[in-house]
Amino acid sequence: PRSHSHHQTMSINLTTTQTVRELTRLERIGAHSHIRGLGLNDGLEARAGSQGMVGQEGARRAVGVVSRMIEEGKIGGRAILLAGKPGTGKTAIAMALSRQLGESTPFTSMSASEVFSLEMSKTEALTQALRKSIGIQILEETEVMEGEVVEVQIDTVAKKGGMEKTGRLTLCTTDMETVYDLGTKMIDMLSKEKITAGDVITIDKASGKITKLGRSFSRSRDYDAMGSTTRFVQCPEGELMKRKEVVHNVSLHEIDVINSRQQGFLALFAGDTGEIKSEIREQIDAKVVEWKEEGRAKIIPGVLFIDEVHMLDMECFSFLNRALESDMAPVLVIATNRGIAKIRGTEYKSPHGIPLDLLDRLMIISTEPYTHDEIRKILAVRCEEEDVEMADDALELLARIGMETSLRYAIHMIITSSLAAEKRKSSQVEIEDIKRVYKLFVDVKRSTQYLMEYNKEFMF
Ligand code: ATP
Repeated sequence: PRSHSHHQTMSINLTTTQTVRELTRLERIGAHSHIRGLGLNDGLEARAGSQGMVGQEGARRAVGVVSRMIEEGKIGGRAILLAGKPGTGKTAIAMALSRQLGESTPFTSMSASEVFSLEMSKTEALTQALRKSIGIQILEETEVMEGEVVEVQIDTVAKKGGMEKTGRLTLCTTDMETVYDLGTKMIDMLSKEKITAGDVITIDKASGKITKLGRSFSRSRDYDAMGSTTRFVQCPEGELMKRKEVVHNVSLHEIDVINSRQQGFLALFAGDTGEIKSEIREQIDAKVVEWKEEGRAKIIPGVLFIDEVHMLDMECFSFLNRALESDMAPVLVIATNRGIAKIRGTEYKSPHGIPLDLLDRLMIISTEPYTHDEIRKILAVRCEEEDVEMADDALELLARIGMETSLRYAIHMIITSSLAAEKRKSSQVEIEDIKRVYKLFVDVKRSTQYLMEYNKEFMF
């Protein structure tokens, strides 16, 4: 009975977190929201400008091989090191890898310096990061009713003389004699009645008329209601069809937080999670494994990206080394711009400041600085993503600024310059808007130079 009530509260709380999670996630990845994958073809060659990714072909190809290994379950115990200068798209590539692995693959990005906080131990911070990167899909079995629309898919295809609608309507029925094609008339009927998945309908055999009887009790996805053929799902007489549906997408960390704090999901808002007891984690892990075995949950290893990895010390490295051995481990992608460096807290020098036992596990991929043309293309992708119209010469100027300062600075200028354009009631960003915000907001080079001059004045 105890474990039962435990499960009850867990599922109630999960409903509330889903929104929270979507919000926080949106904010965290906003800068990379245009990235939808690695942009590779079936032969794992990088396509120029695809899925939001531009340039960096070598690295993308290599990460593509990594994604294959992950899909085939052959990554075990290994990690990826992205070596390259700041602003060469290391975060972007790690993000692309997670998107490549699937839409619900969790992605966590952090800088190694975040591990050194006063609120929790280094290993707790790393544990939380690892568990944020492990997704749990909670599945629910639902029954499908006689006459229930399981799925409606529509496609519009270009045909000679205009567009034509084709599609598929999947219906649960025990009456196998009713299999026939839907004509145009029926597509009209479907759209008029706004039939979507989850509706319960009958089809009159003689006239093909569709009647909506109501909604099924089970959850349903929304599709536009048009189709040209019917595909009937055969159910054994008198028995209802069952299906598994994803009802929650959460991370292990979220389950930890909800179950270890009085304020439950509010702790997620506050970002104040504190240390989580290891007994709680053990219980949760056991529960998740149990759900998995019962077919009630799926574990989705995500991607954990740690930038500036040379900032980690020996204790962190050995912790990560051990974590990689776990069955549930996410894919670890670390990044650095250091060559030979001292391992933090020791006198030992090693490549990238990483101890040898971890180096042994690494697949190293390097990233190259962007060309002017690539920066321009990335800026164009971001303009589209942020819904900003920019004149060609303005984009050219922005690309030059990107080369001189940083890609990140140039990207920030997209939205600020569009506000400047809006202010003069123009729907398009022109050179003058770029010039204006370039004066308003300084880049790092100019801000440090300014402060250095200011300090000099003080000294004399
Ligand atoms: P690093 O981690 O190496 O410092 P980054 O991935 O953080 O680099 P930024 O300089 O922050 O790269 O990138 C700024 C913006 O450019 C981000 O929005 C990022 O998604 C985007 N970006 C970087 N590289 C690419 C790329 N190859 N294709 C598309 N967008 C990119």
